[in-house]
Amino acid sequence: MSAKRYQMFIDGEWVDSRKEETIDVVNPTTERVIASVPKTDREQAKTALEAAEEAQPKWEDLPPIRRASFLSKTAQLLLRDKERLARLLTSEQGKPLYEARSEIEGAASNFEYYAEFARRIEGDVLPSDNPRQTVMILKLPIGVVVSITPWNFPSATVARKLAPALITGNTVVTKPSSNTPLSTIEMVRLMDEAGFPKGVVNAVTGSGSEVGDELVTNKITGLITMTGSTEAGRTIMNHASNHLPKLVLELGGKAPFIVWHDADIPWALKCAIWARFWNCGQTCICSERMYVDEKVKDKFVPAFVRMVKDLRLGNPLEPDTDLGPMVSRKERETSMGFVQRAKEEGDKIIIGGDKPSRPAKGWFFEPTVIEDVKQDSSLVQDEIFGPVVPILEVDSFDKAIDFANDSKYGLASYVFTKDSTRVLKAMNRIKFGESYINQVGPEQLQGAHTGFRQSGLGAEGSRYGLECYTQLKTCYVDWNDKPNLPYLFPYKGR
Ligand code: NAP
Repeated sequence: MSAKRYQMFIDGEWVDSRKEETIDVVNPTTERVIASVPKTDREQAKTALEAAEEAQPKWEDLPPIRRASFLSKTAQLLLRDKERLARLLTSEQGKPLYEARSEIEGAASNFEYYAEFARRIEGDVLPSDNPRQTVMILKLPIGVVVSITPWNFPSATVARKLAPALITGNTVVTKPSSNTPLSTIEMVRLMDEAGFPKGVVNAVTGSGSEVGDELVTNKITGLITMTGSTEAGRTIMNHASNHLPKLVLELGGKAPFIVWHDADIPWALKCAIWARFWNCGQTCICSERMYVDEKVKDKFVPAFVRMVKDLRLGNPLEPDTDLGPMVSRKERETSMGFVQRAKEEGDKIIIGGDKPSRPAKGWFFEPTVIEDVKQDSSLVQDEIFGPVVPILEVDSFDKAIDFANDSKYGLASYVFTKDSTRVLKAMNRIKFGESYINQVGPEQLQGAHTGFRQSGLGAEGSRYGLECYTQLKTCYVDWNDKPNLPYLFPYKGR
C-alpha cells in the first residue's frame, strides 16, 4: 500500500509543493513510512504570508464574537474526530493512544477557552492629566502571526498558538515539525471545514532552516510564536532581528523534582514516575533531575527503581502500554549519548541505559535511572529529552532550591513536602515559570505557561497568553468645546 500524500493549505486551497518534493513521515513504532507531506520552499512560504496579510484586515473587522464561532466549531470538530486524530497522532509521534486522546481533548479545550475571551479583550479607560480629555488603551491585533511547533505535542502546541492568535484578530501561517506534520494538517483541515475565511489560516510544511527561516525573516510577519529547543529559539531570535517582530518563545526545560522527608512518599513516587516518563520523557515539563532528601533516599530510590522496572514498553496502540517508542532514531541516539557519557564518567546506572531486546522494531529506549550524579555534570545541566533521570542526594532544603535554580533553564519544577513553610519557600525561591507542589501536570489553560532564563519569552495559556497576541495602542481623546493647546509648548497659534 502506498503512503498517503498530504497537502498544505495556502489561501484557502490545498496545494502541493511547487517543486513537487516531499518529506516522508515515519511511524516510530514500525519504522515504516506512513505518509508524505510537501517539502516546500521560501517562495511558497512567502505566498502563504501574503495570503495571511491580505485576509487580515477583514478578519480584524469581524466582531470577536463572530470570530469565536469559528473557534468553537473547530473545537466541536476536533472532539467529533477525536479517535481518528488520536490514532494519527500516535502513528506519527509514538505516544500511547490514551495520551494522544487526551492531547486532542486538550487541543479542543484551547479553542473553547479562547473563544470565551471574545467579549473580554479588554482595554483600559484612564483619567487624563488635562481637562476634558480621556486616555484609552486599546488592544489591537498585531497582523500576521507565524506559528512554529515541535513534534512532542503536535496537536496541543498548535491549538495553544492558533486559538489566541485568531480570537484577537490576527491571521496565521503555521509550520509543524517535519517529524510530525500530519496532526497539524488534519487540524487545519477541520478549521477549513469550520468555515474560516480564505487566507485566515495557512499551513506550510518544510524544514525549519529554510521554510521556517523565511517565515521568521519575512517583514510581513508581525509576531513569531515558536515552541521548540532553546537552540532553535536562539537562532530564530537572531534571524528575526532584521525586522524585529514580536516573539513568544516556549523553549527547553530541565525540571527539578525535589522530594523532602516529610512528603507523602508513596504519592511522591507515583508522581515521580508520571513526571519523568510521560510521553516517553519527551515533554518540556518532564522531571529531568531528582533531588532527594538524604533522610529518605535509601527508601525512596529502591522503591522508584522497582516502579521503573514495572513500566511496560510496547505498541502505543495497546491499552496496557506505559511507554511507546521515542519519536525518531535521532532522538534516541541523543538520549543514549547522554547515558554513554555518564557510563564513561563513572556514574552509576541503576536501571536501563540501552535499547530493549523487545519490541524488536521501533525506536524504543529503556527507562533509565542514574545515581550519584554531580550537579555540574551534563546529565544535570543539559536537557535530556528522553526517559533518563539522574538522582542526587541533598542534605538541606535550601541546598535543594539552590541546585534547582542552578540551571540555564527555568520552565517547570516539582516539590513534594507537607511542611507549609517549605511550600511557601519553594513558591517564592524556586525561579521557574511553573511549580507543581505535591502534584504533577499537565499545565491548565487558565495557568500561564512561561519560562525563566533560557526557557522562553512571553507566555501561553491564560489571559497573559492572550495578551501576547495583541498590540497596545494608547489614544488621547479631547472633548473640550474649545480645545486647548498642550501646556508644554510655547507656540500659541498665529
Ligand atoms: P526544534 O528542533 O527546536 O524544532 C521546533 C520547530 O522549530 C520545528 O518546527 C523546526 O522545524 C523549527 N525550526 C528549527 N530551526 C528553525 C529555524 N532556524 N527557523 C525557524 N524554524 C526552525 O525542537 P523539537 O525537537 O521539535 O522539540 C523538542 C524541543 O521543544 C525540546 O527542547 C522541548 O523542551 C521543547 N518544547 C518546549 C515546550 C514549552 O512549552 N516550553 C513545549 C514542547 C516542547 P523542523 O524540525 O521541521 O526543521
